[in-house]
Amino acid sequence: MIPFNKPFLTGKEGHYIYQAVLSGKISGDGIFTKKCQDFFEKKYGFQKCLLTTSCTDALEMAALLINIVPGDEVIMPSYTFVSTANAFVLRGAKIVFCDSRTDHPGMDEDTIEPLITDKTRAIVPVHYAGVACDMDKIMDLAARYNLYVVEDAAQAVDSYFTGKDGVARPLGSIGHLSAFSFHETKNIMAGEGGMLVINDHQFLERAEIIREKGTNRSKFFRGEVDKYGWVDIGSSFLPSDIIAAFLYAQIENIGDIQRRRSEIWNVYYEKLLPLAGKGIIGLPVVPDFATNNAHMFYITLPDLQARTALIAALKSSEISAVFHYLSLHKSPYYESKHDGRELPESDRYTDCVLRLPMYYELSDNDLDLITGVILNHFA
Ligand SMILES: *Cc1c(COP(=O)(O)O)cnc(C)c1O
Repeated sequence: MIPFNKPFLTGKEGHYIYQAVLSGKISGDGIFTKKCQDFFEKKYGFQKCLLTTSCTDALEMAALLINIVPGDEVIMPSYTFVSTANAFVLRGAKIVFCDSRTDHPGMDEDTIEPLITDKTRAIVPVHYAGVACDMDKIMDLAARYNLYVVEDAAQAVDSYFTGKDGVARPLGSIGHLSAFSFHETKNIMAGEGGMLVINDHQFLERAEIIREKGTNRSKFFRGEVDKYGWVDIGSSFLPSDIIAAFLYAQIENIGDIQRRRSEIWNVYYEKLLPLAGKGIIGLPVVPDFATNNAHMFYITLPDLQARTALIAALKSSEISAVFHYLSLHKSPYYESKHDGRELPESDRYTDCVLRLPMYYELSDNDLDLITGVILNHFA
């Protein structure tokens, strides 16, 4: 069986975990947590990184930091993971879903402005498949309407956006706040894990407090206050240093991991190009302003029936390929709260996206087999 995902171990994970355990400080903010945060701050120029137990937690921290209160509105794509929305719903926000682009499952930036009201507080772009949204358009709207931008960069490690000024900026460095995931399905992973990136200094102090159960314990450990106490709301968002130790082994190999994933992505693309040429399937589009971090390889089928048939054909050859999100505006939880607008592109991706196996250890033989089954299916 060729699985859809297989977590890749670089080999050093166990060694670093052992080191973390022997260090005598295995709760949060130990040696490996600092090493991971330093790495991301230096390599990508993020102002401040805080490891969290998940991307979901980082998004929840973002909702707390921008003080979302009941009745506030937050704009985001309907075609995304539940956590993007849930984090704000937990604070009482009303989610205003927008549609996806016709060429890409990411949010259609040109449909955002009419959704802005005097209750709108934030826009949450999701960089689907690690491919950037048009952040020039989104940051411009945010500046004009005084909104926050929280990037859901869960899939977007080591990917870039090049704006009108010609500067390539890492995803996660552009919004006021950003959230990354290190779930085992992501390029760089720790089983479960995440990171909040703070690019607006007004949030620096409070982010540490919220992450430490509403206390100023981080300041205390730095010797900036002589005792620590309860100063704000918060929760327990920091991972143990064992998680960070695992993550550090992955980070050290980010170049190699990204190189192999790109190779795999390119093989898929080239082998399936003839089918796209005949209009039988759609291949991923990477706009000129975006890079591709090879987080995912997906194709789009003409309809649900065609996708179901291809999943079955792959399954009978022992290959696991999977669909992806279901439009959140039609979910059992949110449908009755949605304002009724049709979001046809989101629904189309719900029915038509198919994700192919994508992981470091996928071999060239596996790739031949998978693409062979697909080509054969349509022959
Ligand atoms: C994976 C993912 C998340 C959730 O990440 P966790 O670390 O599992 O909480 C959120 N948003 C998107 C777009 C994701 O792909």
